[in-house]
Amino acid sequence: MFKLLKSPIVLAITFVFSLLVVSCQPNETAVSQTPAAIPSPVAARPVAYVDRTLSASPAQLPPLPYPANALSKAIDTRTMQIHHDRHHKSYVDNLNSALKDQPNLQKLSIEAMLLNLNAVPENIRQRVRNNAGGHLNHTIFWQIMSPTGGGQPTGAIAQAINQTFGSFENFRKQFNQAGSDRFGSGWVWLVRNPQGQLQIVSTANQDNPISEGSYPIMGNDVWEHAYYLRYQNRRADYLNNWWNVVNWGEINRRYQASQQR
Ligand code: MN
Repeated sequence: MFKLLKSPIVLAITFVFSLLVVSCQPNETAVSQTPAAIPSPVAARPVAYVDRTLSASPAQLPPLPYPANALSKAIDTRTMQIHHDRHHKSYVDNLNSALKDQPNLQKLSIEAMLLNLNAVPENIRQRVRNNAGGHLNHTIFWQIMSPTGGGQPTGAIAQAINQTFGSFENFRKQFNQAGSDRFGSGWVWLVRNPQGQLQIVSTANQDNPISEGSYPIMGNDVWEHAYYLRYQNRRADYLNNWWNVVNWGEINRRYQASQQR
């Protein structure tokens, strides 16, 4: 056999045959549909809740932590119902549907999935990004609002805001401005950035700041579905009124959690 392979004719035939084998490989689409092997996912610390990550096996719609009419100082009942029961639910349902043939991905937390999007097959990657992001963002959003919220910030976050932005009023202005400036749909956030500083950032669509290495301390939803029934096109009015329901207790807990490495 060894001697045969050394013959130039046999070598030439072997070469042509190899080319044929390579050109007959399944195309990329077919390859990307095989379940992804996930090489040790990037560890993700909890972001959905201060003490636990968000599960994808299966993803579940968390109940609102208060009645739908409880935030009427800023958000009307109908908007809360449609926002939670339909919009948030559809992110959860669409995520589960995208992951139905992906047992390996279902084992990851939502946070880990968003940090390992390259491990998600290309044909479902955008759906996973949008719907896992939507699930995570809204899970945070309901918690950082409260019927007894509003007023001046309290605790450690009050001090950190003053140190970083000069005053609460300044911070509020910059946060609202970033929310107004977000073109189309997205979110405005107060994050702890990778350098450990507080920073106001805005993300498009359902992206979450963890994708940029930042911890989301608080965020406001500036998609039209979040405010249109009461405020129509007046996003600035919604952004102003929203501070009446901000839950400083929970935001302080998230601020503490953001300091853990
Ligand atoms: Mn929303």
